[in-house]
Amino acid sequence: MSTVVLVTGGSGLVGKAIEHVINTEPESSRFGKRPGEKWVFANSTEGDLKDPVQTEKLFEKYKPTHVIHLAALVGGLFKNMKYKLTFLRDNTLINDNVLHFSHTKNVQKVISCLSTCVFPDKVTYPLDETKIHDGPPHESNFGYANAKRMVDVMNHAYKEEFGCNFTSAIPTNVFGPHDNFDLEDSHVIPGLIHKCYRAKQNNTPFAVSGTGKPLRQFIFSYDLARLFIWMLREYDDVEPVILSVGEEEEVSIKSVADKIVKTVGFQGEYKFDSTKADGQFRKPASNKRLLTLMSQNKNEQQFKFTPFDEALEYTVKWFVENYNKGAR
Ligand code: NDP
Repeated sequence: MSTVVLVTGGSGLVGKAIEHVINTEPESSRFGKRPGEKWVFANSTEGDLKDPVQTEKLFEKYKPTHVIHLAALVGGLFKNMKYKLTFLRDNTLINDNVLHFSHTKNVQKVISCLSTCVFPDKVTYPLDETKIHDGPPHESNFGYANAKRMVDVMNHAYKEEFGCNFTSAIPTNVFGPHDNFDLEDSHVIPGLIHKCYRAKQNNTPFAVSGTGKPLRQFIFSYDLARLFIWMLREYDDVEPVILSVGEEEEVSIKSVADKIVKTVGFQGEYKFDSTKADGQFRKPASNKRLLTLMSQNKNEQQFKFTPFDEALEYTVKWFVENYNKGAR
């Protein structure tokens, strides 16, 4: 029987990375496309997943045997704070439709994408997979976070009632080509890249919000793509897996900004605006479970993450090359 993998949210940062990896890795590698496999990357023009009728049509059109479910309403802090009900409701509808039709159309396996913001606001660090439901998420994004948390609850319920093979992945901060580089509503890396590039073009200062001291774990979208493909093929358990670089790989916002300045070739005034909030100093997540699970396959070499500097340089160059083609 052939394998049809439907990737929802296929036009986004993570979907595009999976498409890149599956089409460029050799067939013989752990992450390359296998003979007989068909991969479908769907975006919202193929069907609005908030709508059950359109979702069912998408499943009937492609008849997926496997689903990587990435589609979500995502946004920065401002949007999350302002539209809490919209984030809760839209994501709940999307997730419910995708899991319901995966079940009724006999999909063999689903991996849904959560986020580290599902974790409780008051929690002991490092984050690990056992702590998701230990307390309420941060109030700033409780709509998005609670909708994502419910996917883990639904996965367990589908398994207990119907024996479904549904699970979830929890990535830390992702960056790479095809990110949202919007100046007002993007994550830290794409926002800083765009800001620095504009400062160079306009001969204006490059001002980074905050002190630059906070530490974060960033995962390159192509590495994350490989980990999703690993989960699809080699992981069969309902419990989520944190997909992240190790805690020792945390980097400061200042070192991110320094590297961007160098790669963009910006030579003007560069400063940190410490009147702006820093956010939490660090919120490390453990990737111990991921590394232990991946190393159980003795036929494969240990997974190597792309060095951060190399991945950041690649992303900056991609943005600059694609700036006039609409990367924003
Ligand atoms: P993007 O915002 O880049 O892409 C979102 C994707 O979802 C697009 O393909 C979009 O389609 C699709 N989509 C949105 N709404 C609908 C809808 N109603 N019906 C059908 N498709 C829809 O997201 P990312 O690639 O950044 O994120 C992918 C997943 O990873 C998400 O679940 C997100 O929560 C999670 N995640 C992301 C992190 C990050 O740092 N980016 C960190 C942790 C988790 P279209 O282009 O047509 O709008």
